[in-house]
Amino acid sequence: MTAYDFIVVGAGSAGCAVAGRLATESSASVQLVEAGGSDRRLTTRVPLLAPMQYGTSLDWAYVTEPEPACGGRRIAQPRGRVLGGCSAMNGMFWVKGSNLDYDGWRLPGWGWDDVAPVFARIEQGPMHITRSPFPDELSHRFVASARASGVASNDDVSGPELDGAAITPVNIHKGQRWSTARGYLGHCNNLTVVTKASVDRVIIRDGRAVGIEYRRRGRAHRAFADQEVVLSAGAFGTPQLLQVSGIGPADHLRRVGVTPLVDSRRVGQGLADHPLTWAIWSLAPGHVGLADTANPKWLLQWLLRRGGKLTSNGGEALAHIRSTLDAPACDVQLIFTPADARAEPRGGRLAPALSVGHSYWTPKSRGSVLIRSSDSAVPPAIRMNLLTEREDVEALVRAVKRTREIMATEPIASAVERELQPGAAADIEACIRNTAKTTSHPACSVAMGNDADSPLDEKLRVRGVESLRVADASALPQIPRANTNAPSIMIGERCADFLLADVSPGAI
Ligand SMILES: Cc1cc2nc3c(=O)[nH]c(=O)nc-3n(C[C@H](O)[C@H](O)[C@H](O)COP(=O)(O)OP(=O)(O)OC[C@H]3O[C@@H](n4cnc5c(N)ncnc54)[C@H](O)[C@@H]3O)c2cc1C
Repeated sequence: MTAYDFIVVGAGSAGCAVAGRLATESSASVQLVEAGGSDRRLTTRVPLLAPMQYGTSLDWAYVTEPEPACGGRRIAQPRGRVLGGCSAMNGMFWVKGSNLDYDGWRLPGWGWDDVAPVFARIEQGPMHITRSPFPDELSHRFVASARASGVASNDDVSGPELDGAAITPVNIHKGQRWSTARGYLGHCNNLTVVTKASVDRVIIRDGRAVGIEYRRRGRAHRAFADQEVVLSAGAFGTPQLLQVSGIGPADHLRRVGVTPLVDSRRVGQGLADHPLTWAIWSLAPGHVGLADTANPKWLLQWLLRRGGKLTSNGGEALAHIRSTLDAPACDVQLIFTPADARAEPRGGRLAPALSVGHSYWTPKSRGSVLIRSSDSAVPPAIRMNLLTEREDVEALVRAVKRTREIMATEPIASAVERELQPGAAADIEACIRNTAKTTSHPACSVAMGNDADSPLDEKLRVRGVESLRVADASALPQIPRANTNAPSIMIGERCADFLLADVSPGAI
């Protein structure tokens, strides 16, 4: 049995920010417990190799239940299981969102004016933000065509103004992915990072979180926190841990053999993600894009100089558009990649192609994360209910039509041969329902709010239990018009602010 001041569960985007800041800005003892292992691997460091993590030991590799509005398909949900969490696996897009997102939460302390300085602190401190370092000439063409066809020529697209087309802002540094593990977890004597340790539950005594139980190398352990426990296990892991610990919808918990301690109906509800659909074109002769990246010369260039095509994040360019004229802000992110988005990560030689992903930022469909068992080793049932709201699919159909206009505009028009997906004569909606995924931005499954029903209050405290907070994408009250890494890190930073302000003076 070991005792710390704070225990943080999950070393992902938010968890690294919480633990790293607590350890560097106080003398409190902090334990950071992570199910995955080291991030010293090529696939986490070389930007373009990230998809090679899918389905390996670095991936929780969740899948949804059959999705009713997507032909009953189960949709893959990759999630990083490694130091850095999803920030060690993701597409590295750095977008903070619109001021309308944060102001729309109507939560004291979380308006745009409150969070903007936190984002600035992150960008100027632990995280390195740059532009996709080696953009293909096709990516430049896409930006030029988007602008020529009416997208704003604004280059600063990471928020709060989103309108524009640009080479993608990314968290890459000197040709390498810059994850939160790299940004926040320096050496600190008061920080204990325990890897390959899977947390089973929170220990709750007399209404207070006092520690955790975890498994490491087949052995059961307990650790205790004198001050607080913070759950940063992500939008699937955090609601699962709360539920197996007895905090969640009481009826459901009883059905799966968990004794309810706090009947919190919305733990695991409200799950949101941005639906994503791809349109794909073959390239005209003479254009290659990223189709030749399996050539060993690119790996050599990366190893010797941290340069070349493998420094690409894949989604090298973006355009933010409004799918309707009356949208109050951009509601679709077009993700441009000079490759075939359908290709398997380990698929070998690829046909030259380009793809545009359409990520719909203001979806109405909502899902859930509910445990199937009291055993935390059993993955929860994930229901996205993707595209169950008609408005969501209609927005994607409009976005695909808008992309066709961009692709028919020079200079990209002369670089493409023909539309492969949906295909010129295809039914766009049917294609979307048959192929859509999520953008891997699950959020809002343990949302904070100032009504008594919200699982978290506006300081990220779990209602009904003392000394327990949640800091990760699950705490977002509404999914923002953004890729969710930056907002998740911001939540981790805010949690650290709250804890540093609240801890007993003896501990800091
Ligand atoms: C493939 C992919 C591409 C993406 N692309 C982008 C992008 O380009 N830009 C962007 O902004 N966002 C992107 N995202 C989303 C973004 O990365 C996530 O929203 C963000 O990282 C979530 O942070 P988090 O702290 O909520 O969770 P995570 O980063 O997932 O961290 C959770 C951590 O908790 C650990 N954990 C979970 N359960 C337990 C347990 N029981 N015991 C111990 N540890 C546990 C996990 O292993 C993980 O390390 C992408 C995500 C994926 C998967």
